[in-house]
Amino acid sequence: MKASVQNLQPYVPEKPLATLAQELGLDRVVRLSANENPYGTSPAVAAAVKAWDFTQSNRYPDADAAALRTAVAKREHVDEDQLVFSVGLDEMIVMVSRTFLTPGDQVVVSAPTFAEYGLHAEIEGAQLVSVPTLANDHVDFSALAAAVTPPVKMVWLCNPNNPTGTVESLTDIEAFIQQVPSETVVLIDEAYLDFAPNAAAITAMQLPGKYPNVVVMRTFSKAYGLANFRSGYAVFSKEYAPTMQAVRLPYNVNSLTQVATLAALNDQDFVHATVQKNAVERAKWQTFFDDNQIQYDESGANFIFFKYPKADQLATYLLQHGYALRTGLRPDWLRLTIGTAEDNAAIQQLILAYRS
Ligand SMILES: *Cc1c(COP(=O)(O)O)cnc(C)c1O
Repeated sequence: MKASVQNLQPYVPEKPLATLAQELGLDRVVRLSANENPYGTSPAVAAAVKAWDFTQSNRYPDADAAALRTAVAKREHVDEDQLVFSVGLDEMIVMVSRTFLTPGDQVVVSAPTFAEYGLHAEIEGAQLVSVPTLANDHVDFSALAAAVTPPVKMVWLCNPNNPTGTVESLTDIEAFIQQVPSETVVLIDEAYLDFAPNAAAITAMQLPGKYPNVVVMRTFSKAYGLANFRSGYAVFSKEYAPTMQAVRLPYNVNSLTQVATLAALNDQDFVHATVQKNAVERAKWQTFFDDNQIQYDESGANFIFFKYPKADQLATYLLQHGYALRTGLRPDWLRLTIGTAEDNAAIQQLILAYRS
């Protein structure tokens, strides 16, 4: 076994909800720890999956994901040959780490952020350099730029960031990119972009066309409600895309995922409804936290990161009442996926009851 994998802290996946409910002796557990879509999935997805021709099950899927490719390219105003599809963004993180990193390299992140960037850097024998966020949990761009020394091969920017929910402007991101050497890859993970106010003005989608070392990543797991289908993609420059296609397993995205993703993409009404309901509920949460003097980060995502003394005890209390939140991301802080209006109101009542 290679040395870099011998002491890994594995990503702890979510337990199946039925298992969790059974363990807790509850009828229902609402998972608000994984940033899933609380409004389900577009009904068009079920229809498309049911309509799929199962006699094709013995055939390999379309390695190009041609129909999906055309639809995404058109929607995002990028060239079809800039797109690389993956088994969720998880697989894309593996693929880019494998492509750009060799042992001894360094990877820079603004911390806290998504743990998988560091995990896959470590597997490749690279070292993670974490630059702390500012007091308001925004990216410290000048410290980040200073950390980009010659051993650094990759810089991750998650926008909006997981777990803080903070949003950086396209102006700041582009100014940062201009300070990074052209051999260093800057990866912008836009898993939560759809939820950001003014998302169209914030996306870095057009930057790979302008800077060959920039990559922009999207997933269908969150706003599109397709977490179970494992579907994501990245936009590369034309310089990088052919290599990425060569690294990608040819049949990584199965036909059902391609069909489901295309149906989800074509139902923008579902996405808009999700984003709108999330924005309304997010504002209510911020009011709740303000009213109760609970510190939180300004969020442009479908989750909120907030501070609570002995946060793990509050999380245990909420779990015993059927609500799972994400712990362990920063001492005394919890990440809450914004749920339905009914569940949010119930959790707020539980927090008030817990306090008194
Ligand atoms: C959820 C998430 C992903 C990965 O999602 P997939 O389901 O693998 O597409 C990627 N990046 C961030 C920041 C996430 O929170």
